[in-house]
Amino acid sequence: MDAGGYFEEHRILCERLGLRGRILIAEEGLNGTVSGPSKMTEEYMRILQRDERTKGIEFKVDSSRAHAFPKLDIKLRNELVTLALGEDDFSSMEETGRHLSPAEWRVLMEKEDAVMIDVRNQYEWELGHFEGALLPRVQSFREFPEWVRRNRSQLKGKKILTYCTGGVRCEKFSGFLLREGFEEVFQLGGGIVSYGRDPAVQGEKFLGKCYVFDERIGVEVNRTVDATIISRCDHCGTTCDRYVNCSWSQCNRQHFCCEACEDDVMGYCNSVCRKAAVVSLAARGHASD
Ligand SMILES: [Zn+2]
Ligand SMILES: [Zn+2]
Repeated sequence: MDAGGYFEEHRILCERLGLRGRILIAEEGLNGTVSGPSKMTEEYMRILQRDERTKGIEFKVDSSRAHAFPKLDIKLRNELVTLALGEDDFSSMEETGRHLSPAEWRVLMEKEDAVMIDVRNQYEWELGHFEGALLPRVQSFREFPEWVRRNRSQLKGKKILTYCTGGVRCEKFSGFLLREGFEEVFQLGGGIVSYGRDPAVQGEKFLGKCYVFDERIGVEVNRTVDATIISRCDHCGTTCDRYVNCSWSQCNRQHFCCEACEDDVMGYCNSVCRKAAVVSLAARGHASD
């Protein structure tokens, strides 16, 4: 589609419906989350489903008592996710790993010759991930190609199962794996979010919560009796899945902090940030004298 023209049209639509959220628009389509009164979000879905350009788009609906975003933020991109491959780039619309339903995923993940790769960031992983999955310790999505090339021997001859939050990052990453010569490449269709909603698998074998990019931060996945919290408060070590941003604006690091510790540590992620914040406050005080 003509992403540039559609971008403007989509922004007007969201504003008219009073929606808030974060949306990326590219040639291949759009991806993101919006929040608003259910009458408006229903209207939004109806309009997108009727539109030739966005027909067939997959929606996942959660109820929430208030807006999940502070504002509306729509961005135009060359592609929804990038692996920074330069001249070797390809379209995930043409090449991508086989989609697995939650039930298929549940079976394949336990095969002897399967390797599950988590295609997300470390802070997403720390809140929750699949039992037995592998987290490539990369700083950003763009570093995945190099990681794959370095770990080729570990992946060779395996059934490679990739997953991410909603499935978008895997469209690209699994396509890349195929282009690198791996043959059995699969992706969890609709991502962790769809897996958690499936009435049959009920999120089984997912540990902790799924990190999401809105004010909810974490959503439940595992609805079986085995549901657990895997993270701990950074300060006291008690079981805790409460993510808090460091109070020092220059750090702002998301860290686990239990309610009991929050007052004590004043929201700073560690003592270094706490001291730095005091110093910068003092410096500001001095400058204004
Ligand atoms: Zn604590
Ligand atoms: Zn900090």
